[in-house]
Amino acid sequence: MATVEGQVSQQAPDAAEAPNGKPEAAAGIAVENPATGEIVATVPDLGAEKVVELAVRGRAAQPEWEAYGFEGRARVMRRAQKWLMDNAGRVIETIVSETGKTHEDAEFAEIGYAGNAFGFWAKEGPAYLADEKVKSSQVLVKGKKLVLRYQPLGLIGVIGPWNYPLTNSFGDCIPALMAGNSVILKPSEITPLTSLLMAEGLRECGLPENVLQIATGRGATGAALVEQVDMIMFTGSTATGMKVAETAARRLIPASLELGGKDPMLVLSDADLERAANFATYYSMQNAGQTCISIERVYVEEPVYDEFVAKVSEKVSALRVGKPDGFGSVEVGAITFPPQMETIKDHVADAVQKGARVLTGGHQLPGAGRFFEPTVLVDVDHSMKIMTDETFGPTLPIMKVRDADEAVRLANDSPYGLGASVFSRDAARGEAIARRLQAGAANVNDAMINYTVLELPMGGAKASGLGSRHGAGGIRKYCSQQAIVVTKLAMKKELFMYPYKNRTSRMLAGLFKLLYGRGKRP
Ligand code: NDP
Repeated sequence: MATVEGQVSQQAPDAAEAPNGKPEAAAGIAVENPATGEIVATVPDLGAEKVVELAVRGRAAQPEWEAYGFEGRARVMRRAQKWLMDNAGRVIETIVSETGKTHEDAEFAEIGYAGNAFGFWAKEGPAYLADEKVKSSQVLVKGKKLVLRYQPLGLIGVIGPWNYPLTNSFGDCIPALMAGNSVILKPSEITPLTSLLMAEGLRECGLPENVLQIATGRGATGAALVEQVDMIMFTGSTATGMKVAETAARRLIPASLELGGKDPMLVLSDADLERAANFATYYSMQNAGQTCISIERVYVEEPVYDEFVAKVSEKVSALRVGKPDGFGSVEVGAITFPPQMETIKDHVADAVQKGARVLTGGHQLPGAGRFFEPTVLVDVDHSMKIMTDETFGPTLPIMKVRDADEAVRLANDSPYGLGASVFSRDAARGEAIARRLQAGAANVNDAMINYTVLELPMGGAKASGLGSRHGAGGIRKYCSQQAIVVTKLAMKKELFMYPYKNRTSRMLAGLFKLLYGRGKRP
């Protein structure tokens, strides 16, 4: 495995525990397998000067890449799509080794996503960024050619979190590259290996040198990157997102922010309870609950509460948790980020101390790996962190509500607004309720599935973000817009020009009155 600096080592360095619980190597950053506690590699910790060097190289490489045109760039993306499928086993092992997630979580939510995304952006990117011919009602431009065009911004910074090293760190590079930009990706220090492997793969597929560079490092490397690029795409916590937004504002560069969430699920009394219970179980425990759009809290109408709770408890208590050892070995993998374990334990303890009951789970497993039992809590309310703060773990608090109105009020009682779901056999009623939820995406009788629909925008409301990925906006944000006006049939001068003459000016004033004075569009 090689990095841009060619320095990844697969040997275990002398690792020590840093104050934040992350392993630290004597030189560089040690990457730990959270399922075993083993150090699997060490990567360089790039300082600000190194980031400046990468930026210089990235800017120098960009014009040639832009000159490839859509067709040339799409060819590389399609090759990369095939490369990913040919190397899926290796990529999955890399993801699993640095996250401790199950092989299914890596296959379904990472390989499946990126495989689709390479093809999607190769096909749709050119259409989303094609010149748009514009028609205008403005009389002074009648007969002129009006065009809206998109140009790559130049050098894009992508900063990603540790929960989905392929989907959320690397995934945003695909549309940024398709638009003709060069990219510097700063993966989480916890999970840099997948990004390095993907950069190697893209080079094999013909991506020119320095068009995609990986800046391994810690938070300071990310902060240095925001200082260098023409646009920043950030995925991570709301707290860090705010810092990134402040720097972007000072530098007057665009920032797209995909931040935290506390997604609610609403179960109405007419819901298919078996389906609702399966979805609640899967989408709260998938990826060990470490998904920005995990179901983090459930509100159930009183008449079906007991039956729903019984079904969910039974399903959750049957889940196997532990070290992943290939497909079918366990359902719930490791807690990737050491401090996250403390947050999960703190939220459960806080809830229990305030009167919640744990129906199943509730504890960290002993042993070398970092695992938390799949946990269901009841008798919860909004005085508890587990109902208000992002837990990001395999926990499912379930709250009884009087009716749908109370469920909507509680669902919206959150600073976050990423995703939401509503379960009802009456799809129209479900949709009407979904429309009342303050969330960037709302699924009816489903959950999280919107993320896989690359044609739909994915972004957060309120403190869950600014801007969105996917859809037309998900690639146009990597471009500046240019308005072009072409005058073909040109007179020597226009009527309104100098010298001003009383008669001509009155005539034009009369024309404006005629056009705009009747309350109708011309
Ligand atoms: P963090 O905000 O801690 O880190 C995100 C990235 O930012 C990491 O690469 C981190 O580096 C880097 N970073 C840290 N400090 C700075 C800084 N000052 N300037 C620039 N970059 C910095 O988030 P997590 O990695 O803990 O990710 C989990 C969070 O991500 C959750 O809140 C989750 O909801 C959210 N998320 C949102 C998604 C969405 O689509 N809305 C999708 C996935 C996750 P390092 O790790 O090396 O410190």
